[in-house]
Amino acid sequence: MQVNLNQAIAKLKAGEVVAIPTETVYGLAADATNEQALRQIYAVKQRPADNPLIVHIGDVAQVPDWAAEFSPLALTLAKAFWPGPFTLVLPAKDSVSAVLRANEPTVALRVPGHSLTLQLLKESGLALAAPSANKYTQLSPTTAAHVLAGLGEQVAVLDGGACQVGIESTIVCMAGNNWQLLRHGMITEAQIRAVAGKPAIVGASNVPKAPGQHLLHYSPKTPLKLFDGLPSLTAYQQNSTQICAALIIDDYPPPNLDFSCIYLPKKNAEVAEHLYEALHRLDALNVEQLLVLMPPNSPEWLAILDRLNRAGHKD
Ligand code: AMP
Ligand code: MG
Repeated sequence: MQVNLNQAIAKLKAGEVVAIPTETVYGLAADATNEQALRQIYAVKQRPADNPLIVHIGDVAQVPDWAAEFSPLALTLAKAFWPGPFTLVLPAKDSVSAVLRANEPTVALRVPGHSLTLQLLKESGLALAAPSANKYTQLSPTTAAHVLAGLGEQVAVLDGGACQVGIESTIVCMAGNNWQLLRHGMITEAQIRAVAGKPAIVGASNVPKAPGQHLLHYSPKTPLKLFDGLPSLTAYQQNSTQICAALIIDDYPPPNLDFSCIYLPKKNAEVAEHLYEALHRLDALNVEQLLVLMPPNSPEWLAILDRLNRAGHKD
């Protein structure tokens, strides 16, 4: 069910969940101070209770409402990357719901870079918990139509068009005046290092792990195999008795293949923007096997490689 901005605000204030657009993926939003509404997010998504939620706020000035500590470095990073696909994990105030934090001592915060959702946050005065608006482990939605197809027509959706970044935010955890990368996203480690003026710390014992980073994630329903070269992909298809379809990420469109394929040019921002849309379309073909020609193993592709490796995980 589509709702407009005022209807979305009314529902959220009444403790209901509403799917909202962001620049990363569509989120299933609820008032981050309302535990019953937060439980509704976990129920609709069938998300395990040990997987905490990111709080979306309208402005950096709201951070002290949630975080017990906001170090100078955290403030510098927030000012550099917000609004945008960048999440900060900070020590939580005692008042922050344990349902939201999944009992972690930390809280994750982000100012999303989407004008309609910023308007929603500012007009409502709410802070919104908003994990991706899909069932747990399934493909993330990047359009309102994906949300309705995945969660059912009864879910309220605010349509803000197709997501422009297209994959989930980069997550950084602060440990005092140091930082650690918890999840790759389109804000790269190199960009963060340049603003921070120092590299990430790795594996410090006083830094919490990111819970909820399960290996099977972001997955289409159709099994998915990953390939590093077009020859091995086409050889697999030729020797297979299964009906295959492919996602080809390459410099040039492939020569005519005698099976369905979607081609994305090898530009990381463009691939991120269209990645889930392409996987949703391939999944809808109802073939037996999806094949993906992977991008190179280099830093600017880490976020996309991470999502594809999880989508292709087999266990
Ligand atoms: P998403 O799936 O995009 O909603 O992002 C949620 C992810 O953010 C979780 O799976 C965690 O990895 C991370 N996260 C959220 N809240 C926290 C927190 N309080 N502490 C550490 N990581 C968090
Ligand atoms: Mg998700």
